[in-house]
Amino acid sequence: MELDIQIIKTATPKEKPTDESTLGFGKYFTDHMFIVEYTEGIGWHDARIQPYGPLAIDPASPVLHYSQEIFEGLKAYRREDGGIQMFRPIENARRMNRSADRMCMPQLDEEFQVKAMKLLVETEEAWVPHRAGTSLYLRPTMIAHGAELGVHPAKNYLYYIICCPSGSYYKNGMAPVKIHIEDSYVRAVKGGTGAAKTGGNYSASLKASAEAAKKGFDQVLWLDGKQNKYVEEVGAMNMMFVIDGKLVTAPTGGSILPGITRKSVLFLAQQMGIEVEERPIAVDELMEAYKAGKLTEAFGTGTAAVISPVGLLEYRGQEMKLSNGEIGPIASSVYKTLTDIQWGRCEDRYGWIEKLS
Ligand SMILES: *Cc1c(COP(=O)(O)O)cnc(C)c1O
Repeated sequence: MELDIQIIKTATPKEKPTDESTLGFGKYFTDHMFIVEYTEGIGWHDARIQPYGPLAIDPASPVLHYSQEIFEGLKAYRREDGGIQMFRPIENARRMNRSADRMCMPQLDEEFQVKAMKLLVETEEAWVPHRAGTSLYLRPTMIAHGAELGVHPAKNYLYYIICCPSGSYYKNGMAPVKIHIEDSYVRAVKGGTGAAKTGGNYSASLKASAEAAKKGFDQVLWLDGKQNKYVEEVGAMNMMFVIDGKLVTAPTGGSILPGITRKSVLFLAQQMGIEVEERPIAVDELMEAYKAGKLTEAFGTGTAAVISPVGLLEYRGQEMKLSNGEIGPIASSVYKTLTDIQWGRCEDRYGWIEKLS
């Protein structure tokens, strides 16, 4: 796509957080953002990197009323040699376009999205933290704006990318999480928007998460929206189980977000000679496997944590305790392999790495 990106540098750079052990997530935003505008009949125009700051949008903008919004999440990693690299950014660009299609939003050239991400990270080079486990998180976002309250796809869109330095997910080691298997609220149904990374999926999930948090759980594991029988995924992670030595995960049948970490973990597990199955998993099957001693590990996969081991699963008051509250052997080995690739500690044999400098 022939679209130049203008760079407008800030005159007032911010103070950067000096203590990289307290970065957290989504607390600090960098000096610049990427933005490109879409107008029906014209297409994408005015691509630029500009100082980070508030957007001026009309109060009647469709995003504010009907949630015509999609987003992505990926990271730039600082290697030990000081260079910077990204992990499979083209996959995020492709998923952005699939989400856009579902939400009746315009496509944006995938190579161009990656070019914009790289140029923004290069501009914010000094914001990419150095401490082990830290990264620069990128949040590409597309919103419908303009002034029109009719319920139909909007005519105007903004695609922008903001970034925030983010801390190590596992500051105090890999603490296994407690998960509540939700049997009344649902997240997504087949034919709905579960496979799109769209804001409404997340606001719809807040109530179940808040209720589970009150009872001491870290996450909610969603069941399928039709029969309340098959496990799907957690808030922003796909779920994997080790049953009888096999790595088992739910198929991405339209109601599950097809995670890039999920796809990478399944691939790496196969490379390691672990048998992988993508198939519906009933909660009853999990309970039976647990009682028979065959459910040996459960973990979530997603960009933020990479792998999040599960120490406890609760369903209708019954508890399944896993891995003695530690990270299991399969979770542990895929975690090491994947993070070694992401932070450039080993060779990139699969063409997953996009180097910046
Ligand atoms: C983003 C997300 C994931 C994980 O996707 P990754 O590409 O691995 O980060 C899983 N489930 C949901 C609902 C998500 O939003």
